[in-house]
Amino acid sequence: MTIHAYGAHAGDQPLVPLQITRRAPGADDVQIDIAFCGICHSDLHQVRAEWAGTQFPCVPGHEIVGRVTAKGAHVAAFEVGDLVGVGCIVDSCQHCEDCDQGLENYCDGMIGTYNFPTPDAPGHTLGGYSQQIVVHQRYVLRIRHPQAQLAAVAPLLCAGITTWSPLRHWNIGPGKKVGIVGIGGLGHMGIKLAHALGAHVVAFTTSESKREAARQLGADEVVVTGNPDELAAHRKSFDLILNTVAAPHDLDALLILLKRDACMTLVGAPASPHPSPNVFNLITKRRTLAGSMIGGIAETQEMLDFCAEHNIVSDIELIAAEQINQSYERMLKGDVKYRFVIDNATLAP
Ligand code: NAP
Ligand code: ZN
Repeated sequence: MTIHAYGAHAGDQPLVPLQITRRAPGADDVQIDIAFCGICHSDLHQVRAEWAGTQFPCVPGHEIVGRVTAKGAHVAAFEVGDLVGVGCIVDSCQHCEDCDQGLENYCDGMIGTYNFPTPDAPGHTLGGYSQQIVVHQRYVLRIRHPQAQLAAVAPLLCAGITTWSPLRHWNIGPGKKVGIVGIGGLGHMGIKLAHALGAHVVAFTTSESKREAARQLGADEVVVTGNPDELAAHRKSFDLILNTVAAPHDLDALLILLKRDACMTLVGAPASPHPSPNVFNLITKRRTLAGSMIGGIAETQEMLDFCAEHNIVSDIELIAAEQINQSYERMLKGDVKYRFVIDNATLAP
């Protein structure tokens, strides 16, 4: 089927309206009419070829929500009309240790929602800035939020799970002190989720203007990172720091805020490397510097259900498709509270 989409023909060109094709649903497939798609900073990194290996035309988008419009003969878990989501993963090998443990995100054969090899035209996957998508049932998530919240649920499919997975892996809950660095799409979800899990949450921002807003999101304290005294007040006190910053920066200023044996996890994926941290800031307190990538399908469903139960959604600004390029520029300036979401009905000319 031919559908409308938005994407780029080259890394130095803006996104433009495109027509793409989707396969007919196979026996294990779910066909979804996309209602809304969030704009992740990863979309910008990839479509502008800031990361290696961008395939063009590139149609980004991995924060997808919509309704099932058709399903294959083997699909029992979903019915036509169901509200569903698709995140960053549309396939994996399905038989390695990672897949068996529900961590498809770490499968060497993981197929991302865009820019990964596929037998479908044009030979690489095309994402959610499009009217429709066809996905193997294993990678389709059930949405239990009310339909009225659907647009604000979209960012949970990447920003939500990318912050949820490390918070759960490092056992964040009551009695734990967590720092969330960078209050953008990921960071604002990290604050909400860590707060809902019962932790003491400290938000780190470069933006004085976000100080009050961070508290409203659930932060118990806010540090503006340009103020050395505010940073110093938290030395050796954190159980976990979750760093979502999309640009290279000084990691040492944050590492020294960790307790003995505590960890800073990087989820931000800047196009160029961070300056190397001073090894003494690791060895003197047996600290760990770690990384984490999105999350598996089972934990994504767990996060969605937790959010439905606790009435957690993203704070969004809904845009029309023609505003995508302008939204990218605003995202780079930190001028979004806190996630742009595309109304995919506006993709039709
Ligand atoms: P975003 O909405 O642009 O937020 C990033 C935030 O980082 C900004 O709001 C800003 O927060 C802070 N920041 C930006 N430039 C900075 C700088 N030069 N120095 C210090 N702070 C800066 O981006 P996002 O969508 O949350 O994504 C964040 C990063 O995570 C991106 O690199 C993205 O590719 C990556 N990502 C990784 C995964 C994964 O699986 N690991 C998944 C999704 C996204 P303040 O104004 O509060 O300082
Ligand atoms: Zn993302």
